[in-house]
Order: sequence, then structure tokens, then C-alpha cells
Amino acid sequence: MSEATQVSLWEATAAPAPITPTLQGGLRAEMAIVGAGFTGLSAALHLAEAGRDVVVIDAQAPGWGASGRNGGQVIAGVKDDPDVLEQRHGNSMVATVGSGPDLVFDLIERHDIDCSPVRNGWLQLAVSEATLRVASARAAQWQARGVPVRMLDAQEASRLSGSGVYVGGWLDHRGGTVQPLAYARGLASAAQRLGARIFGGSPAIGLTREGDGWRTETLQGSVRAATVIIATNAYTDRLHDPLRRSVVAVPSYQIATDPLPEALRATILPEGQSVSDMRRLLRYFRTDAAGRLVMGARGVYGDAPAAHAMRRQLQAVREIYPQAAGLAFPYRWGGMVAVTPDHMPHLHALAPGLLAGLGYNGRGVAMATVMGRVLAQWAAGSAPEALGFPVTPLSPMRLHAFSRLGVRAAVQYFAARDALERR
Ligand SMILES: Cc1cc2nc3c(=O)[nH]c(=O)nc-3n(C[C@H](O)[C@H](O)[C@H](O)COP(=O)(O)OP(=O)(O)OC[C@H]3O[C@@H](n4cnc5c(N)ncnc54)[C@H](O)[C@@H]3O)c2cc1C
Repeated sequence: MSEATQVSLWEATAAPAPITPTLQGGLRAEMAIVGAGFTGLSAALHLAEAGRDVVVIDAQAPGWGASGRNGGQVIAGVKDDPDVLEQRHGNSMVATVGSGPDLVFDLIERHDIDCSPVRNGWLQLAVSEATLRVASARAAQWQARGVPVRMLDAQEASRLSGSGVYVGGWLDHRGGTVQPLAYARGLASAAQRLGARIFGGSPAIGLTREGDGWRTETLQGSVRAATVIIATNAYTDRLHDPLRRSVVAVPSYQIATDPLPEALRATILPEGQSVSDMRRLLRYFRTDAAGRLVMGARGVYGDAPAAHAMRRQLQAVREIYPQAAGLAFPYRWGGMVAVTPDHMPHLHALAPGLLAGLGYNGRGVAMATVMGRVLAQWAAGSAPEALGFPVTPLSPMRLHAFSRLGVRAAVQYFAARDALERR
């Protein structure tokens, strides 16, 4: 996808970016964070709230990465369902991943972040009887833990989504939506107000052990800090090559209309939930504060013409909302999702005092915010076993260089399975 053809809805409608100068000269801080997306900014905000001296550096600007480009769907949980999570990692892990939406909406309220928060729930909608059974088991597991969720039959799924293609699903009342770039910028401003120093346009190009701490080099400066958190997710570069090779960056793409005409707005997501469907190559959609329809699905690698990716998104609109198929979609943009082989987020100690959290598999609005809090607690001295999230060894993929081929093959396979399932 060519960057030149991107017109991001979130860029067009977010409050202005906070001022984040380029880092020049040498600085000292207690903690340094590389990457100013939800992970790095949540870590910075939690550390600043705890009175710690923190510096954040980003190659571009707060929210420039996936955090400013995503669907803004605030979703609880990870790929594994609660029973499996509990078996593998215990109760506290279920609580940690389930707490994401509470944390997001609480931070927004406490720090008065202007990002159009809506908390009317998240719909996961089934495209087949088989996926409906998965939804039913998932909902039952959360329900058994006292979480406010409920199953939907085809009629209710159709009423809430405004689409006739789903056979049912479940509604998770914990979920909601935000304007993601505005949320990222708001986290940055809140951290700054509490004393965090944030620098943009300052790519970290070297990390060196120095005494008991680390020296992070940027193009025009450096930060010395006892602890460094790397929070670069799908945009991880050769600053830490094994970390880069522990995830596969997969493109995702969105399009959005102008505000929908009243008659359409009354039928499409009338109660303001957001949706992820249960196709293997999922589609995710919502409306924004002004009533625009925002549709997302897998994107394309490289500089393929945007028109090629647009066709796929328009096809999704025609299938799901034929009533909106004639509308113009003036906004189109994309970003990279970090996918891990086990589809779980990962928390690592890369070296003494060098921490990282990444790999949200397209579920990072809530989960990266939680990971930021976990990283902040760890950096501030909590024992790893008290974090409510497992610390795992880094495992770079041996054939990472071929990961794009693997993604393409998997996409073709999943597309075929999706097509079969709809028959
Ligand atoms: C199109 C799209 C739609 C999505 N939709 C949803 C959704 O609806 N709901 C959901 O929960 N999740 C969604 N996600 C996933 C979610 O956006 C991410 O999981 C989350 O934003 C990751 O946040 P992060 O802070 O870890 O990384 P990012 O926000 O990607 O931030 C990484 C930052 O690191 C910086 N960086 C990289 N290298 C360096 C360096 N060497 N020096 C300095 N800075 C560096 C980059 O400039 C970037 O700003 C979506 C993702 C995409 C791409």
C-alpha cells in the first residue's frame, strides 16, 4: 500500500498532537521507553503516576504506529479462552487480560482524554454454526466468571449489527470504542503533565550496556537509564533484531464513509457496538462519533496499488451492508499488526534491565494498555510472579525472512476455508 494514498480518518478527526521535540544531546533518566504507542505510553503514564522519572522516544510521533491507525475497538481477552488461560497460567492471567477495557476507560476518565469513548459493548458475530458453537463456549466461560456477556440468536445479531449475514454471536458488555489516535495522544499528554519527557522524530539506533544501566542512542542524542522498555511491536526494527524476528508484521487496512445518511444510520449498528466477525480472515467494523461507517480487513504488503486493497474492503461492505454499497469511502489507511506463532502477547526480559512487551495479534487497544501497566510495574520493582502475566523467553523465528510467504499461503488457505464454510 502506498503511503501517499492514505487518508486516515483518525488523523483527520483527532485533537492536535502534543509537542514532542527531537531528542538532542545526552539525557539521564530512571527509565527509558522506546516506542510511543499504547504499550510505551501506558507504561510511561503508569510510571509517571508512580512518581518515576521517565523518558519516551519515538522514531516518529505518539500514535504514529498501529496505535493511531487501528479500528479503535476496545476488546477484552486474548486468543485463548479463559479455561485454557487459567489451566496454563492461573486465575490472575484471566483477570489481567479481562481487565483491559476497564483500564482503558478508567484512564480516559481519570486523565480526561478527549477520544470519543463509547462503552456499549463488543459483538463477536458467527458466520457458521461451527463458529457459533465456539462463540457459545467462549461466552459461557466468561459468564461462569461473572462477566457481563450474553449470547445472541440470528435475529438479535441482525438487529444489533444491521447485517443479515450472521447466524448469531455474543455480546461482551465490557467492550467499546475509542478514537485511537486521540486516545494515544491523550495518553501522551497525560504522561507529560505528570512529568514524563516525550521525544518524537528520534529513532533509537543503538542500545549499549553501560555500568548498571543502558545507553540508548538516537540520531542526535542519547538517554542513559537504569531500565529500558522496548515497546515497538510490529514496527520493531534492527535495534533489537531477535525481538523483531519474534513477531510477524501483517498488514491490515480500513476504509470509512462520510457520516451516514440518517436512514442508514438507524439500521447500521444502531446501538453503537463494534463488531469483529468470526471468519478466519476476519472483518471488523464500527461507526465513529459522527456516524461514519469504518470497515477493516486484511491489507496488502508493500507498495501494491491501494485500489487493489480497496476492492477487498468494498467487497466486505457489499456482503455485510449491501444497503451501504453505493456510498463513497473517502478515507483509507492501513498499518501493521504483530502476530506471534502462539497468537498470544509476549512479555520478555531481553537482558538485565531491558524489558519488552508485544504481539497483540490485532487485539492491542486494551491489551497493549494493560501490557504497559504490567511493564511499568515490573520496571518499578514488582516480582515477575506478581505481574499477572507470564514472562517468557524470547523465541526469534528461524525462518523469519520467509514469513511473508507463510502469511500469503496462510491467507489463501484461510480464504478457501472461509468460502467453504459459508456454503
Ligand atoms: C489496521 C489495524 C487495525 C487494528 N484494529 C484493532 C482494534 O480494533 N482493536 C484492537 O484491540 N487492536 C487493533 N489493532 C492492534 C493494535 O493497534 C496494536 O496491537 C497496538 O496499537 C500496539 O501498540 P504498541 O504501542 O505496542 O505499538 P505501536 O502503536 O505500533 O507503536 C510502536 C511505536 O514504536 C516506534 N518505533 C519503532 N522502532 C523504533 C525505534 N527504533 N526507535 C524509536 N521508536 C521506534 C514506532 O514509530 C511506533 O510509534 C489494529 C492494528 C492495525 C494495524
